[in-house]
Amino acid sequence: MAKYDYLIVGAGIFGSVFAYEAGKANKRCLVIDKRDHIAGNIYTKKIEGINVHKYGAHIFHTSNKDIWDYMNSFVDFNRYTNSPLARYKDELYNLPFNMNTFHALWGVRTPQEAKAKIEEQKEEALKLMEKKGIREPGNLKEQAISLVGKDIYEKLIEGYTEKQWGKRATELPAFIIKRLPVRFTYDNNYFNDLYQGIPIGGYTGIVEKMLENTEVRLSCDFFENREEYLKIADKIVFTGMIDEFYDYRFGELEYRSLRFETETLDMENYQGNAVVNYTEYEVPYTRIIEHKHFEYGTQEKTVITREYPKSWKKGDEPYYPMNDEKNNALFAKYRELADKEERVIFGGRLGEYKYYDMHQVVERALKAVNEEL
Ligand code: FAD
Ligand code: UDP
Repeated sequence: MAKYDYLIVGAGIFGSVFAYEAGKANKRCLVIDKRDHIAGNIYTKKIEGINVHKYGAHIFHTSNKDIWDYMNSFVDFNRYTNSPLARYKDELYNLPFNMNTFHALWGVRTPQEAKAKIEEQKEEALKLMEKKGIREPGNLKEQAISLVGKDIYEKLIEGYTEKQWGKRATELPAFIIKRLPVRFTYDNNYFNDLYQGIPIGGYTGIVEKMLENTEVRLSCDFFENREEYLKIADKIVFTGMIDEFYDYRFGELEYRSLRFETETLDMENYQGNAVVNYTEYEVPYTRIIEHKHFEYGTQEKTVITREYPKSWKKGDEPYYPMNDEKNNALFAKYRELADKEERVIFGGRLGEYKYYDMHQVVERALKAVNEEL
């Protein structure tokens, strides 16, 4: 008999929800992670009394009341509402695209005026699509111009998108830009979801609670001891890269990586907002995060992080899956292998190769563990 029921590879939110629920059902779980800390990409760490989001800004949002209640059963959330600013050269705009943005850009004051302006500006996208004989936008550029017009595309989308993804907007899938709301109200809330907030005290606290009664081994890479790990448990829950699990046998999936540059500043307030996006291509980072503003901090100092996108190569952190047609087709081949596994469950943003937000990962993990138990 194996020592554990489940070996869970990855102490991120997927692995931790799985471990917590399986533990409640008296299953014996071992969680390993190659990093030296738990919580995966939602890891937060205190610097100067401020909870620093070590892997980029994380705002929890969902419209699923069950998921919201589930997360709140581990820790209380504050009332933070994400309202990033976009800086293009010396101009500042509100995000997501809403009446404040349209007013600042065009001087329009009513939804009717804003809609008329966008209609007029959609021409270019429509012409491009007509030329190709398509009716629905086929790439991010066409999608963006159809939604918000040419001016916003050129100032707030093109540069940011092309540095974030390292590809031309015409080569990127349309769905990426549909993540952002377009609104004809003066509402700067970045998300449309019913519930939103930041866990008071940081995200790591949630995962600590989830893993409270589970054995965790850090700085352990599954691939360094694969044969042993396969024997240690009846089943494996794998939340790392699915193509790596299969030794890249069909080829590498594409990911996008990031470099975070974090700095403590001897001032109380650097930018007056948690998130400021830098949308022009020439600025090498996409955003600056000022962490204290997620929790209304009043500390004497402040901590900021600049986020630099970069290409991914083996050994780098794979922060974003590149869910375009080519990669989704390659993933489908790995998925086929995965579906035949009797002892391995793949989950999370890397295991399922999907641009998931946290609430979606929690949902997927609860579904996976409920199916198991
Ligand atoms: P991860 O957190 O990546 O956990 C996987 C774990 O597995 C990692 O700790 C890794 O070290 C470990 N692992 C991998 N391979 C191995 C191995 N071979 N051996 C041992 N361990 C291994 N979502 C939101 O809802 N709101 C946001 O505002 C938001 N902002 C984001 C900003 C950025 C910059 C990024 C990158 C993501 C953001 N997300 C956001 C998405 C969110 O981070 C993910 O949905 C979620 O953290 C994924 O959880 P996971 O458990 O699937 O993966
Ligand atoms: N985006 C943009 N300008 C912005 C913010 C976002 O063009 O100021 C585009 C960009 O392509 C980005 C996508 O919208 O990749 C999704 O943005 P989101 O903030 O959801 O990205 P994430 O937080 O997941 O990195």
